[in-house]
Amino acid sequence: MAKVAYETAERPARRAFLRQASAAGLFTLGGCATGAAPPPATKPAFRPVPPLARVDARPGRIMNITVCLRPFRAAGPRLDTETVGDKLVVHNYGHGGSGWSLSWGSGMVAVRKALSAGARDIAVIGCGALGLTAAVVAQRAGASVTIYAKERMPDVRSARATGVWSPDSRIATAAAAPPEFPALWEEMTRSSFRMFQSYLGLPGSPIEWIDRYVLSDAPPSGRADPVGFAHYGGWVRDLTPPMESLPPGSHPFPTAYARRASLPMFNIAEYARVLTAEFLQNGGRIETAEFHAPADLTSLKQRAIINCTGYGARALWKDESLVPVRGQIAWLIPQPEVNYGLVYDGVFMLGRRDGIVIQQTGPDESWGYDDANEQPDRAEAEAAVAAIARVYA
Ligand SMILES: Cc1cc2nc3c(=O)[nH]c(=O)nc-3n(C[C@H](O)[C@H](O)[C@H](O)COP(=O)(O)OP(=O)(O)OC[C@H]3O[C@@H](n4cnc5c(N)ncnc54)[C@H](O)[C@@H]3O)c2cc1C
Repeated sequence: MAKVAYETAERPARRAFLRQASAAGLFTLGGCATGAAPPPATKPAFRPVPPLARVDARPGRIMNITVCLRPFRAAGPRLDTETVGDKLVVHNYGHGGSGWSLSWGSGMVAVRKALSAGARDIAVIGCGALGLTAAVVAQRAGASVTIYAKERMPDVRSARATGVWSPDSRIATAAAAPPEFPALWEEMTRSSFRMFQSYLGLPGSPIEWIDRYVLSDAPPSGRADPVGFAHYGGWVRDLTPPMESLPPGSHPFPTAYARRASLPMFNIAEYARVLTAEFLQNGGRIETAEFHAPADLTSLKQRAIINCTGYGARALWKDESLVPVRGQIAWLIPQPEVNYGLVYDGVFMLGRRDGIVIQQTGPDESWGYDDANEQPDRAEAEAAVAAIARVYA
């Protein structure tokens, strides 16, 4: 009986919706708003796909092309301590493709170590995701903090990240991560996740939740992973809703398969501004400085130093275990109405407030591995934009 009621009562309403969606230029069931695709015969057991605005994916809309190097270490991020002269140096670098996602939890681990010797005046080297966040964590723990960095936002590599919750993206390899690392990773992931919730619902949406649709013409399968990256998602399954398959006819995409997952997104321009404002309001100072060798740090007045130099640690600390993993983003002019993400044909699209991210992620997980080329590649950017355009063709 319920089925009959749905078909008779909801169909006219749906036709009216499709007419309105067509007039509004929305991307609706069947890929066009003619109402040709019949609605599902029974009420879906999942949250219906809302009208999705089309991405205007044309090369002429590219407003910028940026390249970033993920600071990857097979053994996981470096969080140990050492002494340099009379300084206690706590390392906090090498977070691969997870730097934003792990920033709070990793900062908490580093700050705990920095304060353990009794210091209340802390120097943080680096003003990217890890440095800025660790500096705020240290202030909240009662320390007085100065950041010393060669670059600050928006010139740091962290400003060129995709901006999604990805705490185990290129964070280690399964073979090289020490046995105790997964538990530490879980602790950092959970404490970061908790902190991000406190930035939801703020003006400018520094952090928000979005739906990401994963589309494919063939049945979904895992991506090949020749590097053997560690995957720890199973440890924190309870934090985000599981990926759900969308039945044919329930979504507007032209592909045979569509899945959806909800996850936090960082509008990095706004989020970094909020973090910087909090740091400065709490009396923090940012000084421009470049260090060429660990011994240079002995000139600082602070006894406790947190080293958040990201890929820069490869040169500064001669850490050859840091491997660059190149990633390029073509930035399309923002469309505030595009508030979702897509993965299709090896390309990632994310509708951020500060621009539409279009990123080639390649045929397998090794894309960009050990590639330190930071020159933008226009042809790669245009090919990625063309792939996203095909979704709306
Ligand atoms: C394409 C791409 C997409 C990504 N997407 C995501 C994502 O969606 N989610 C996520 O969580 N992570 C993502 N990442 C990973 C994330 O961007 C990095 O893990 C993160 O930016 C590392 O931050 P960091 O603070 O360690 O380094 P950086 O941002 O590089 O900051 C380093 C700081 O140290 C300073 N510095 C370096 N050397 C010196 C020196 N010798 N003297 C003085 N100062 C120095 C720099 O000037 C800078 O201030 C992505 C990365 C890439 C490349």
